[in-house]
Amino acid sequence: MVLADLGSKIAVALRKMTQTTIIDQTVMNDMLSEICKALLQADVNIAQVKHLREQVKQGVDIEQMAGGINKRKVLEQSVINELCSMLDPGRLPYAPKKKQANVIMFVGLQGCGKTTTCTKYAYMMKRKGFKCALVCADTFRAGAFDQLKQNATKAKIPFYGSYTETDPAMIAAEGVDKFKEEGYEIIIVDTSGRHMQEQALFEEMEQVSLAVDPDDVVFVMDSSIGQAAHDQASAFKGKVAVGSCIITKLDGHAKGGGALSAVAATGAPITHVGTGEHIEDFEDFEVKSFVSRMLGKGNIAGLMEKMKQADVDLEKQVRYTTHPYSPL
Ligand code: GDP
Repeated sequence: MVLADLGSKIAVALRKMTQTTIIDQTVMNDMLSEICKALLQADVNIAQVKHLREQVKQGVDIEQMAGGINKRKVLEQSVINELCSMLDPGRLPYAPKKKQANVIMFVGLQGCGKTTTCTKYAYMMKRKGFKCALVCADTFRAGAFDQLKQNATKAKIPFYGSYTETDPAMIAAEGVDKFKEEGYEIIIVDTSGRHMQEQALFEEMEQVSLAVDPDDVVFVMDSSIGQAAHDQASAFKGKVAVGSCIITKLDGHAKGGGALSAVAATGAPITHVGTGEHIEDFEDFEVKSFVSRMLGKGNIAGLMEKMKQADVDLEKQVRYTTHPYSPL
């Protein structure tokens, strides 16, 4: 998994402190240097790495600490806290509400996994009890509508798009209006990605945004983007009101630190991550669980979420077998 390497390097740096009897400024500095090196190798933005080091140094006065205090634990906790705050912009993401239309617009560069992610998100939200629909407002890429249609059909999610209309803002507005009238609760608008940060892409994005007035704009970013991630995230943030981020391809072998840390540039929290090409390869993102899993400490929150979902599925199954005609 992406960042497994980073996680183990940080874990090793933290563990090394157990081998020293006296934890002093030198031990702390060595540990911090090792962690910063690992973060930089994983493509984390240099300013954020510096910030992390300064924060730990400022927060832990190792020489003045009273004798009985477990310095190793204090330092470890401080590093973990800083890793968490690097990934947490301190703002809650938009939470879709039931019994009303929530328009969610997806933006990102071509190939980042945006169209796939739109369906994964719709599928997950459908499982959480929302009435979901998909709108394809990508008129730029040939085959974009067919791809969304194919994915949506597989997931049994209604979709809207056009083979002839060339104005993405028009299609987006039509699709959103139609699904609003039909009482859909989550209406996902997939926009064009294009190849790079070109002016036309941003203008189109702004027009679609004006046409559908989204409740949330989700920025989708490929985890393999590396150091370019920070500039890319800032460019998108500068044009549309990015409210949430989704990082894709976390199952790959890329370093991943660039994309994950670049999210800070948007000021918007990561809500989900993509972990494969299949529709189920999609997870809720929770900062503490992610950091603890990255450091090899297990993922308690994620496990609990999976258990809750398994309970719901089991309950539905039981209901269906005992009352085959009751709604699932
Ligand atoms: P778009 O151009 O941004 O709409 O990108 P697509 O949705 O067409 O995805 C581009 C490629 O990335 C496709 O081959 C997807 O199957 C793949 N992809 C998307 N998300 C993930 C992911 O989380 N993991 C992996 N391994 N592949 C993904």
